[in-house]
Amino acid sequence: MPEPIVQITRREEFSAAHRLHDPALSAAENRRLYGPCNTDHGHNYAFEVTVSGPVPRSGMVLDLNALRSILREEIVSIVDHQHLNRDVPFLAGVIPTAENVAVAFWERIAPRLAPFEGVRLVSLRVYESRDNFVEYRGERG
Ligand SMILES: [Zn+2]
Repeated sequence: MPEPIVQITRREEFSAAHRLHDPALSAAENRRLYGPCNTDHGHNYAFEVTVSGPVPRSGMVLDLNALRSILREEIVSIVDHQHLNRDVPFLAGVIPTAENVAVAFWERIAPRLAPFEGVRLVSLRVYESRDNFVEYRGERG
């Protein structure tokens, strides 16, 4: 029998400031587009990373401690208590909406999962608040 495929999810939290601002637009256009988010403000963010893979004899798709280490190295240690527009090299030139942040996080995490056979990134959720989140599943088009 083939091994069952199971998804596992790890959640991490961080706090960061950001501002939604498109340098290609005028100040008035930015205010109209982004409203109060056009000024500096912060969020207590959370993000959830879901990976899937076969369950081997060990019983683990992926050691959750290994996943936690990857998320802290690639994301949390870089963004926590930083200003996403100014302080985070991998977000340079990106308007740090939750959508864009989710895509940028995906691009950093996916290559780190490559060494784990059969394991793939299936979903990355970014929460700007308890009630609002975005989800990226690696799709383009
Ligand atoms: Zn915001």
